[in-house]
Amino acid sequence: MTKIRVATDWLAGCSGCHMSLLDMDEKLVELMKRIEITSSPITDLKTPHQVDVAIVEGAVANSANVKVLKELREQAKTLIALGDCACFGGLPTLRNPLDATEVLRRGYVETTSTEDGHIPTDSELARLLDDVLPINQIVKVDVYIPGCPPSAKAIYYALSELLEGRVPVLTGDNLRFD
Ligand code: SF4
Repeated sequence: MTKIRVATDWLAGCSGCHMSLLDMDEKLVELMKRIEITSSPITDLKTPHQVDVAIVEGAVANSANVKVLKELREQAKTLIALGDCACFGGLPTLRNPLDATEVLRRGYVETTSTEDGHIPTDSELARLLDDVLPINQIVKVDVYIPGCPPSAKAIYYALSELLEGRVPVLTGDNLRFD
C-alpha cells in the first residue's frame, strides 16, 4: 500500500497541538499503516522533503518561524494549520500590543534571565517580528483545524479524508474554537 508522506512542525505555541496528535492513540497506530512521518519535532527526523501533507502548529513570531514555514510550504502539496495559534494567531498574539523591542526589554531587562539584564544581540539569533501572525499571512493554507488544542478526533478525521483523496471539511464536534 502506498503511504502518504507527512511532515509536522511547530512554530510559536506550546506543543499542545502535537500532544493532541498523539492522543489519537490506537487510531494513530491505524493511520501509521498508511502514513510515513518524514520529519517532526517528536521524531529524530528533522528535514521535510517533498511531502504530501505538512501539519503546522503555532503562530509566526520570528524570522526563524518564517523560514521554517516557507520551507514546509515549498515541500508540501497540502498544508494544514493545526490549532488556534496557526489558524488565527491564538495566545502568542497577546504580545502584539507591544512592539518587539518592548517585548525583549520586558523579557530580558525587567525579568531575571540568563542574559544578565541585556537584550541579546547575536546576529545568529532569530529576529522577533513586530507582530505575531497566523500562518496564512505568510503562506497559503489548504486546511484549517482550529481548537486549543484541536481534538484528536478532528485531526483523525482530517487525515482520514486526505488519505481518501478528499479535502476535509470540518463541521459539528470537529470544528471548535477555544
Ligand atoms: Fe498550544 Fe493551543 Fe496554540 Fe495549540 S493552539 S500551540 S495547544 S496554545
